[in-house]
Amino acid sequence: MFTIRSQRSVRCYRCQAPFVASARAIVLTCPHCYQRVHIEDVIVRGNHHANSVETCGKILVAPRGWLMAGVVIAAGGIEVLGRLHAKYVQSGPVFLAAGATWRGSLLAPSIVIEPGASVEDGLFDIGPRHEAGALMKIAKPAQLADIASTPNRKSAVA
Ligand SMILES: [Zn+2]
Repeated sequence: MFTIRSQRSVRCYRCQAPFVASARAIVLTCPHCYQRVHIEDVIVRGNHHANSVETCGKILVAPRGWLMAGVVIAAGGIEVLGRLHAKYVQSGPVFLAAGATWRGSLLAPSIVIEPGASVEDGLFDIGPRHEAGALMKIAKPAQLADIASTPNRKSAVA
């Protein structure tokens, strides 16, 4: 059969259930939890403000792109060549290219930071234990954002 490339496996960021989706689908209803989920890859080329950006796919922030969001969830991973400012990010593998700027707390299985990339702020929780469990807590990203944005570890007393 020649249908392999027309479908791909994704994992719902709401309920964690894996399912197969059309490679060209953008938004669909998860067959397990019946919530609407985005499964497309997101490419940010200009300035993009949002309360949250969530996808089962990947996020690419292009060299002149600037993604500003409260919560960013990208089960497939994030690649930053431009700027990403967020309160809380939960994703697959993260790559910060030379010239990239990152601000925000992160939970991810792995991260690569090229020389020349800037990390300005954020608590990082990185490790292979997040490979399978990367989406464990995603059902309540807002609460996580509140926890993660507590700036206690940066300055002892304001
Ligand atoms: Zn689901």
